[in-house]
Parts: sequence; C-alpha cells; structure tokens
Amino acid sequence: MSLEPHQPKLIVTILGSGTSQGVPMIGCHCPVCQSRDPRDKRTRSSIYLETPHAKLLVDTTPDLRQQSLREGLDHLDAVLFTHPHADHIMGFDDLRRFCEMQGGPLPIYGSEETLGQIQRIFFYAFNPKKTVPGYVHAVPHVISDTFELGGLEITPLPVPHGSLSTNGYLFSHRGRKLLAYLSDCAAVPEPIRERVAGVEVLIIDGLREKFHPTHLNVAGAVAAAQAIGAARSFLTHQTHEKTHVDRVQGLPPGVDVAYDGMNLEFILD
Ligand SMILES: [Zn+2]
Ligand SMILES: [Zn+2]
Ligand SMILES: [Zn+2]
Repeated sequence: MSLEPHQPKLIVTILGSGTSQGVPMIGCHCPVCQSRDPRDKRTRSSIYLETPHAKLLVDTTPDLRQQSLREGLDHLDAVLFTHPHADHIMGFDDLRRFCEMQGGPLPIYGSEETLGQIQRIFFYAFNPKKTVPGYVHAVPHVISDTFELGGLEITPLPVPHGSLSTNGYLFSHRGRKLLAYLSDCAAVPEPIRERVAGVEVLIIDGLREKFHPTHLNVAGAVAAAQAIGAARSFLTHQTHEKTHVDRVQGLPPGVDVAYDGMNLEFILD
C-alpha cells in the first residue's frame, strides 16, 4: 500500500553498520573486504532519525563526513551519544559544519561519563565565552531518564559493554515503542528487556559468530531479540567475517542484518 505523502513519519537511516575498524578493513584482502555488494561496505555504526519536527543523529563516527554526504544530511537538531569509544565519537569535529550552517549551538545528549569524555577530548567546543564562528559549539545535556525531542519520547537504556556502560535508546511516539537501538553491548539485562518488550523494530549489536567479551555475537543478539519480542530486528556493528548475504542466511524469521543506507519508516499517528 502506498503511503499518503502528508502522513507524518519517522524515518530512520542506518548511517553505518560496521564494527570499530569498518569494512573493508585497511589492508585486508578477504572476500568480504573485496566484495562488490554495497551492503558489504560497513562504515562505523550510527543512525539518523527524522520526524516532521526534528533531525537527530546518534553518535559521531569517524565516518560522519562521508555518511552525511552520502545521505544528504544538511541539518541536525540534536546529537545523542551511546558511549565514548573512538568509533562512536571521533567524527565529533564534523559537527562544525552543522553549527556553521545553523548559526548556533547544537545540543548533545548522553550519560555523564560519555559527555565528560567528549568534553575532555573536544574541550574547545565547550567554552561558552570563547565560541569561534564556524567551529563546533555543543551544549551538553546529561540524561538518565525519558526526555522528549522532536515529538519523540527518548529513553536511555544502559547496557553493559566491557568496563563501560553504553546508552541504548528507545524511541517512542505517544507511548508506542517504535525503535530500540542497542549498539555495543555484551548483554541485554532483564530490566532493559522488559522496558523495550514488544518494540516494533530492534537494532542490536551482533558483531560476529564467535564469542566476544564486550559485544553480543550473532547467537546472543538473536536470543536477545527473541526475548524482547521485537516485530523486526536488525543486527549491526558487523565485522568482515561474513558477507551480508551469508550472514542473513540462517537467521530466524524476523531477524535481519542492517546495512549502510538502509531506511526504516514508521507512520506517526
Ligand atoms: Zn563500537
Ligand atoms: Zn576482510
Ligand atoms: Zn564500543
């Protein structure tokens, strides 16, 4: 059924679906890194959300510039951060272009730990007395509970990731659980599973087949998706060990693999 153009929608774009080194990896000649399938080009993991009221980015990866050019991003109302690992924050300086175009500061959201690390590394972006036109000017907002942005209710979901805690995020609209984004997690604790139970779409860390101490592997991600009871789930933060086509094979119904440039649409009624 075709959608009426005036229906308000949430459109989610997978900006990146790759692990910390990206795929292809530098200097790797394996069949996945050599693949010509565009779904096997995995930039560092990130998503972009657009509603009629707001344009939101989750994480600023080292690939942010290319991701923004590829998807034609030209405005951001806010940036949410999951955690301060390099593959999720090192494109922070590319926010300068958005600040420059918008002529003002950009609100950023995350846990106290994450925003503290970002303020330490990118100290020059947080001096309210010395803002230089054309440079990043970010305004931090520490979040620990549900808040509202662009007509969406956004709930931080702390999940374990080695010595860190990653903020996953649940995006709801008028109480309807649309999307849970759980990047970089070794497990989904019971309280978080209950919080997102029955979500329409789950995007979840599913690094690779083998066990990993700080990331869910494919079997762990599938088990978590089934326990959550998401209508559709997509694995992200993928390594180079399997092509998209090979990784999709063998997954149970309702579980799929995210790829760069993939879009998800939700009608907001
Ligand atoms: Zn990561
Ligand atoms: Zn490779
Ligand atoms: Zn990480």
